[in-house]
Amino acid sequence: MTIPAGLPATVTIRDVGPRDGLQPEEPVPVAARVRLVEALIAAGLTHIEIAAFVSPKAVPAMAGAGEVFAAVGPREGLVRAALVPNARGAQLALEAGADELTVTISASEVYNERNVKMSTQESEGSIAEIARLADAAGVEVDAVISCAFGSPYEGEIAPVAIAALAGRLVDAGATSITYADTTGMATPRRVHEVLGAVSAGGVVGERPGLHLHDTRGTALVNAYAALQHGIDRFDTSVGGLGGSPFAHGAGGNLATEALVAMLDDLGVRTGIAIEPLIEAATIIEELVGRPVPSGVAHHGPRSRAYRS
Ligand code: MG
Repeated sequence: MTIPAGLPATVTIRDVGPRDGLQPEEPVPVAARVRLVEALIAAGLTHIEIAAFVSPKAVPAMAGAGEVFAAVGPREGLVRAALVPNARGAQLALEAGADELTVTISASEVYNERNVKMSTQESEGSIAEIARLADAAGVEVDAVISCAFGSPYEGEIAPVAIAALAGRLVDAGATSITYADTTGMATPRRVHEVLGAVSAGGVVGERPGLHLHDTRGTALVNAYAALQHGIDRFDTSVGGLGGSPFAHGAGGNLATEALVAMLDDLGVRTGIAIEPLIEAATIIEELVGRPVPSGVAHHGPRSRAYRS
């Protein structure tokens, strides 16, 4: 089939389920987390945020991050990302062999203070320090800008301010930028405004990605709006779990299988097989002990409706 004009032919998906999805949950054993990662790899995911190197006291569900990395091990064609909050976390992640570090900073000053107890300026300094460590190890750093599509504290944040922050992060050594809708405030209108500003600021050359949340049921339509801007990199979470335990108003992430099902239907390649991916959603459902919020996980893709 012909891909609608303007959409990318292929999309890279980073599944953040083992980190973002499990982080706010009751801790599950390392072996179970490894099983989830293996299921995602089996489904064709080539980019997975495997764990966060954070204080196990603050985030008990991420304890044993190094063990998860050791069990999964380096593999040809697989990017194993680690979320790191500071230089100490970066050192641990690099020692564990992470292929990519993800760091977060908020476009919202208030959110940043509440989430990481630092001003955004301090966070920028911390990211520069992390980027130096990563660069010395030959590892990429993706800076995730949270609240890029709105903040529950400040409301609208000027798109030019988001683009300016992205530019400073690239100057600080970030090798890519991901724009995150942390509290589910994005709409297609806002996606067009932010990506328009980013594109005008020239930061689009850094292959921007989007991290969407489905708090208000707009995640997929926002993804479609981003595809129209040529965005070909998305963060999603298998089963649609996740959301920061510290973020007021956070809902689940866009489900990986929801995005893959839509992209399959559009003829946009992901390299991910939908049915094995739904198997992985079943695993995360087992791990958290309740049904996942994703409709595609329960009903399958559209094609299943006429096959059975
Ligand atoms: Mg998230």
